[in-house]
Amino acid sequence: MKITQIETIFVDRYLFVQVHTDEGITGLGESGAWGYLEASAAAVETFKRYLIGQDPLRIEHHWQYLYRWSHFRGAAIMGALSAIDIALWDIAGKYFGVPCYQLLGGKTRDKVRVYYHVFGDTKEKLIEGCKQAKALGFTAVGHLTPFLDESRDVPYFKTHVDKMQDAIETVGRYREAVGKDVDLCIEIHRRLTPAEAIVLARGIEPYQPFFYEDPILPDSFDAMALVAEKIHIPIATGERLHTIYEFEALLKRGAVQYVRPDVCMAGGLTHCKKIAALAEAHHVGVVPHNPLSPVSTAACVQLAACIPNFALQEYPIGENEPPKSEIVKSALKLENGFLIVPDVPGIGIELAEDAAEKYPYRPREVKTRLHVDGSVVDQ
Ligand SMILES: [Mg+2]
Repeated sequence: MKITQIETIFVDRYLFVQVHTDEGITGLGESGAWGYLEASAAAVETFKRYLIGQDPLRIEHHWQYLYRWSHFRGAAIMGALSAIDIALWDIAGKYFGVPCYQLLGGKTRDKVRVYYHVFGDTKEKLIEGCKQAKALGFTAVGHLTPFLDESRDVPYFKTHVDKMQDAIETVGRYREAVGKDVDLCIEIHRRLTPAEAIVLARGIEPYQPFFYEDPILPDSFDAMALVAEKIHIPIATGERLHTIYEFEALLKRGAVQYVRPDVCMAGGLTHCKKIAALAEAHHVGVVPHNPLSPVSTAACVQLAACIPNFALQEYPIGENEPPKSEIVKSALKLENGFLIVPDVPGIGIELAEDAAEKYPYRPREVKTRLHVDGSVVDQ
């Protein structure tokens, strides 16, 4: 079998890669490069010059070749490599007539626990989202900020004491809204300094969040380790990391209790299986990052289905509503807060034929929030 063509397909907010073969088998993958999808598509074009004519089943070899042939890496390139890797696994599954997890060691579970996305620019909306998640049968809510998902046009300002006390009280209200039936995955979106992150974590500890995600900018593993050492809530981080080397540096510092590799950014199924094994050696759980399309969700489920230390899967908002539900032919089955592991060959999902015409590409606006003093804040 040989690779004959590779297509990049922009749909809505997503970039898909389809790899075609001379046996008529097509594999599907997605890049998680988020704000840099055009650059990621350009990297796929570069990789194509090597891949056309190759045997698609030599997945690890192609991964190594593309990662190591030239000097530079980073999100756009790793998003491209991840998309190709997922597509090659999809081809391999279809070629052998089995789901990808079967080729990656076999099933470790039958269904995959997910967390529901909660989003809101008022506390009432966020609390309502928590209640809605419980009513829909989800056992965990995430993307759940103790601050607000406010407009980036509104300059930010709060005193330290107000910022801390308000956030602590808000997490208390989330807990009150769902009781013990739903886990709270508190997402800080890198808004705090290490000093603030420690104060807030101590304040919300009585509400027993499942994890505390990206409390600070993720760039310094030492700073993340300092926060982890001083708090009693598990830290979840790693959505921006690309390689086993970065994850190992984070893990060996004890800076993380739940790693968050993105299958569409950290080297696809090939590399994320290795990241999961590194985490396993540290007794750390895996919560795959997934703010993307149902294609990414399907790839995440293949990983969750074959690793022992899977903890929870991010399940983005609107997965069952257009445009997301119409981008694919049929989405995975969700039952009481768990995705059912599919038994079809490959990653178990196909792009709808009219997806690109129906939902043209919408590039992300380059925009961030400013403080009242004019400086950049994270949100
Ligand atoms: Mg996150």
